Amino acid sequence: MQGRIRFGPAGKPIEFKGDMVRVPEFLRSIGLDALEYEAVRGVRISEDKARRLGEAAESSGILLSMHAPYYVNLSSPDPDVVSRSLKRLYDSMVASEWMGAYAVVVHPGYYKGNSSREEAVKRVIESFNKLVESLPSWVTRPEIAPETMGKTSQVGSLEEVVEICSNTPRCRPCVDWAHLYARAEGKFVVSVDQVVKAIEYIERNLGSGAVRPLHTHFSRIEYGRGGERMHHTLAEEEYGPEWSIVCKAYRETGITAVVISESPILEKDALVMKRICEASEK
Ligand SMILES: [Zn+2]
Repeated sequence: MQGRIRFGPAGKPIEFKGDMVRVPEFLRSIGLDALEYEAVRGVRISEDKARRLGEAAESSGILLSMHAPYYVNLSSPDPDVVSRSLKRLYDSMVASEWMGAYAVVVHPGYYKGNSSREEAVKRVIESFNKLVESLPSWVTRPEIAPETMGKTSQVGSLEEVVEICSNTPRCRPCVDWAHLYARAEGKFVVSVDQVVKAIEYIERNLGSGAVRPLHTHFSRIEYGRGGERMHHTLAEEEYGPEWSIVCKAYRETGITAVVISESPILEKDALVMKRICEASEK
């Protein structure tokens, strides 16, 4: 069974100069069909512009998601840090509603300051539940998407992300395969079987909605002790993981997926990934 796989860049394409509102049209013209709007340094888009971006995406057949600001820490023992983080996520959810983005990708937080990993995860769950409760009733579309993280100091193993989503309403996982590879120092995302098992684990625990589509990030990545160092292009073959492994697992499980390229050459590698997947079908 072949599920639809959408591809797109994390943010403004490197070869596009101009207004964000015209990005969907550009992506469509080169053969892509997803876009993650990057609000990583703060949610600054106006309602008017967000709505225009949403309309442009719809008419070009581009599925939108949003990456929330990096400066959030939902597992901090400091209540001020958590409330500032929640404000940023609230703004992300509202702007996502305006533009029709289906998922708001969030870095959950750090273990530091917690007595155990479990305590940190519990804090993230409490924070997300507070966020959902605080949303106005007209915010109905976006789901919170905690991301699997690349450093061992960060909350965000696959199991933790699934645990968080099991206990948070309006939550779907964001699986960054490069991060999981770096976190495991190159021992995970190295066989199709591992990726298939991870997808089945998600579906078993969170239901089919979580894998229809499965929201994912991909690039090659460099790691050291403690995990992630930096993202690399698909042409830099000295770094893993292999995209063909992940694509095969998507085909084998028949899931639908959104693949956001976090390569330094964003949309160009999104196209490379699309071609690799298409070639494997023949
Ligand atoms: Zn991220």
